[in-house]
Order: sequence, then structure tokens, then C-alpha cells
Amino acid sequence: MARLPHLSSRLQGFGTTIFAEMSALAVQTGALNLGQGFPDSDGPVEVSEAAVEAIRGGQNQYPPGPGIASLREAVAEHQQRFWGMTLDPETEVLITAGATEALAAALLALCETGDEVIAFDPTYDSYAAGVAMAGARLRGVLLRPPAATASDAGSRITSEPFSFDPDELRRAFNPKTRLILVNTPHNPTGKVFTEAELDLIAELCVEHDVLAVTDEVYEHLVFDGRRHRLLAQRPGMAERTITVSSGGKTFSFTGWKVGWAVGPAPLVAAVRTAKQFLTYVNGAPFQPAIAAGLRLGDDYFERFRADLEAKRDLLTRQLAKAGFAVMVPEGTYFITTDIRPLGFDDGIEFCLQLPERAGVVAVPSAVFYQDQRDGLPLVRFCFAKADDFLLDAGQRLIDALTR
Ligand code: PMP
Ligand code: GLN
Repeated sequence: MARLPHLSSRLQGFGTTIFAEMSALAVQTGALNLGQGFPDSDGPVEVSEAAVEAIRGGQNQYPPGPGIASLREAVAEHQQRFWGMTLDPETEVLITAGATEALAAALLALCETGDEVIAFDPTYDSYAAGVAMAGARLRGVLLRPPAATASDAGSRITSEPFSFDPDELRRAFNPKTRLILVNTPHNPTGKVFTEAELDLIAELCVEHDVLAVTDEVYEHLVFDGRRHRLLAQRPGMAERTITVSSGGKTFSFTGWKVGWAVGPAPLVAAVRTAKQFLTYVNGAPFQPAIAAGLRLGDDYFERFRADLEAKRDLLTRQLAKAGFAVMVPEGTYFITTDIRPLGFDDGIEFCLQLPERAGVVAVPSAVFYQDQRDGLPLVRFCFAKADDFLLDAGQRLIDALTR
């Protein structure tokens, strides 16, 4: 990537985010956008009405630094209701400007210059930048695609998950390791970490006295009867884990940017210190609205999950018909495909041409990898869209790629 003349050395190499780039391409070309992860319809009307009411009711000035009390309470209730985690909303819950700010604040608050941060590779794009801004170094542990699609595609659809080599994870821990970032359900691969995998991570964190920051923004999008598990609840982890999530995905209001970081009071206090000087506060009227969302009945959360699971299945079928090898995600709203059965091997080039070739935008998974070669033939599609839109996009891909 070209050097930007005024950019600090810490941030050289971080150009425009892939999401902005691909969404701009979608607008320019009029292609159907299955790139950037956002739903194409609004979330529950009770939640948007609560925001309107808050604006009309004058909740428009700075909220308290840690977030309004009713949202902190709602986050604590949510963690108790769904995950059985007990939190003190006064000291153990911090409201942030989306999960992105919570992650950045955690990295800035917890890392010394030169510390190492472990993360499973590929990573969500803000991790590498957050680690760089904190003056730390990212150490990736590779998530390998399921074997069936690794080289060729005898079968076009695999439900096997991405996996990592436990020894590679063990070797990643060293005296410089400060923390591990764990994203489950994982973007972009759709992997949901199992209890056994989280136990191994926990064991290593305890053995090496390492902290953990988790990113659980897709906590309610876990499919096929699987359960979302929290690293914070594995043995020895409660006192060393910051759990991050946000309302963007769960309530389909990704532009509101209301997130949170929860954990033991001393860790939350550290994150709050950094957070104060990033945004201080954000989204005053959206805070009570997300609180209303978190208090919706279980039926809302179940319907949301079931809807997205059906969309996953719909797009999986279309992508397989178009000739992609499809790795069915266990969670999130993204499908990873391998383009080699289509006769291509460079996902970046493929995605740049796809709007013209098929009228569809997707994201090359390579950009999420430390070394792009590790994910070069992989392409990610977002399925949080209306069924008609998915069918239309699928048909365009079938028409363009199977001729
Ligand atoms: N983490 C992951 C894994 C994501 O996919 C996203 C995108 N929504 C974020 C964090 C950012 O979340 P937010 O919009 O709440 O900042
Ligand atoms: N999380 C979304 C994705 O992975 C995008 C968020 C963003 O644009 N930063 O596509």
C-alpha cells in the first residue's frame, strides 16, 4: 500500500477500510451490496420509537461518562438473562461508541508499548489498527478453513468449522503477551468457538497471566442449536476478561453505535479511563432505545436468530449453485466462500471485478489476514438482507458465473 505522507508510522499501511471501499464501489456501480455487514431494514419499531421519544423528550445533552444508568442496568440484566453473568451496573458496565470504541479503549488502556496481543487470524479489521494505535504488536494464530474446501471442492458445501492448531496457540503465548482478543462468533469466518477451545485459551491465559478481551457482537447469531459460550465464564477468566458487545447487530441499528464493555471493576475502570478521552460519551437518545431493545422478550431474540439462519441457508444454496465452495457459518451473518472451483484464485481481484461481472459486491477475506496470501481465494458475503435481495444477488451470480 502507498505510504501516506502525513500519517504516523504507527498507522502506515492502514488505508481506507475495505468496507468503505466496497460500499462505495456498490454505490458507484449500482451493484447489490453483500459486502459491508449491515442489514437492509431497520430493527424493531419499539426500539426506534424509544429513540424518537428520547429526542423529543430532551435526552439530547451529554449522558454520564459511563453511560446512562438505565442502559447499564439493561446490559447487566441482559448478561444475566442470556448468559447467567452477574454484574454490578455501577462499576462493571461501561457504555461505549459501539464495540469498536470498546475494543480500541481496551487496547489503549491495557497495553504498554511493545506488548504483544494475540488474535485469531483473520481478524476484524479494526483489531490490527487498534493494536497499532496502542503501540503493541499483533500476533496472529491462523484459523484454517475446513479441509474439504482447502484445495478443491469435491463437495460444494461444507459445515465443518474453521479450526486452529492448539500448538500454534500455545507457541503464541510468551513473556511479552499482554492480552488475547477473542471474537466469537467470529467475523469473517462464522466460527463459533467451542467450550473446549475456550477452555484451552483460558488455561493459557491463566498459565501466562494474560488478560482477555472478547468481541461478542454476534452473540445472538449462533445457528443450528449451538450455544454461544463466554470466555469470561471459563475457569480463572472472570477476573481477567473484558467482554465487549454492542446493539448494532442484535437490533439492526448498526449506525447508532451503542456498545459496551463489561468485566471486573478494576479492568472496567482502566478501559473507562481511555474511553473518556476518545469520545467521552455518545448517542444520548440512542442509549435509552438500546436499553429498551435489551429488555425485549426472548421471542424477539429467537425470531432474529431464526430469520438469519433461514437467510444463511438461502444464500448458501445460491452461492453453491453459482459454483462457489461454501463454508456454512456456525454464527454471524457472513458466509465465507472459496472461489477456486470457479477457476479463480485471487479474491481481491475477483471482488474488484464482481460488480461489473455480476452486479454484486462482496468482500475479499484476504484483507482480514495478517498475510493476505493465507486467505487469498476466500470471499465473504453478507446475508443480512431481504430474501428477494438475496435471491436476486444469487441469480446474478449464477447467471454470470455459470455461463
Ligand atoms: N467486531 C466485529 C467482529 C464486527 O463485525 C463489528 C462490525 N459490526 C464490530 C466489532 C463493530 O461493532 P460496532 O459497530 O458496534 O462498533
Ligand atoms: N462489521 C461490518 C463488517 O464486517 C462492517 C463495519 C464497518 O463498516 N466498519 O462488514
